[in-house]
Amino acid sequence: MSEANCKFIFLICFITVLAIRFYFARLVKSSQVKDARKTLQEIVLLVLTVLGMFVLPLVGIFTSWLEFAAYLLPSWTGWLGTVVFGVAIWLFWRAHTDLGLNWSASLEIRENHSLVDSGVYRYIRHPMYTAFWLWGIAQVLLLHNWIYGLSYLVSFVPMYFLRAHQEEQMMMDTFGEQYQDYMGRTGRVIPKFFNLEASSG
Ligand code: SAH
Repeated sequence: MSEANCKFIFLICFITVLAIRFYFARLVKSSQVKDARKTLQEIVLLVLTVLGMFVLPLVGIFTSWLEFAAYLLPSWTGWLGTVVFGVAIWLFWRAHTDLGLNWSASLEIRENHSLVDSGVYRYIRHPMYTAFWLWGIAQVLLLHNWIYGLSYLVSFVPMYFLRAHQEEQMMMDTFGEQYQDYMGRTGRVIPKFFNLEASSG
């Protein structure tokens, strides 16, 4: 796949993810928040992710400023990147559909928040973060540049490791044992299809 086609496919996937996010952000707008844990650290991490997810790839696609950092990959990696991004989009959409009005962009508990453990959440606790990892991998495969190809993965690593832990703590504070049991049945970002404890008991 040519460089131009890789960039074009990346843009289409990028716009699709944004469209999904805007749609669900509008949907939850009227749902009241009961507990918000927006810390300075989370805001800094969010800014960093926005830079790696949005700003740098768009600068790389629409200008030639970062071309000094280009790398070469075999052309089939473009197809692989397309498939990986496709799976990420499906998972991202599915997770949003399953979470419904319980979704928030930041760490928040809403009024009438319920613990979702069905759909993709039956197997993974953080399917959206799985989708973000896949997006980061797809970006490396589609945008062949050490700066704007890798920018997503680099910016998402601190976000993921700090936030997933804090989110689980918040869910545990809210749902207690119910969430603890749920953690035992599910994988964090890799699906747990077989529950060995349940099948042996
Ligand atoms: N980490 C999840 C959700 C990201 S959205 C994922 O990757 O899919 C973040 C918000 O979702 C959090 O503020 C929390 O309130 C909510 N949340 C996370 N897991 C949930 C669950 N299993 N049921 C209900 N709400 C959940």
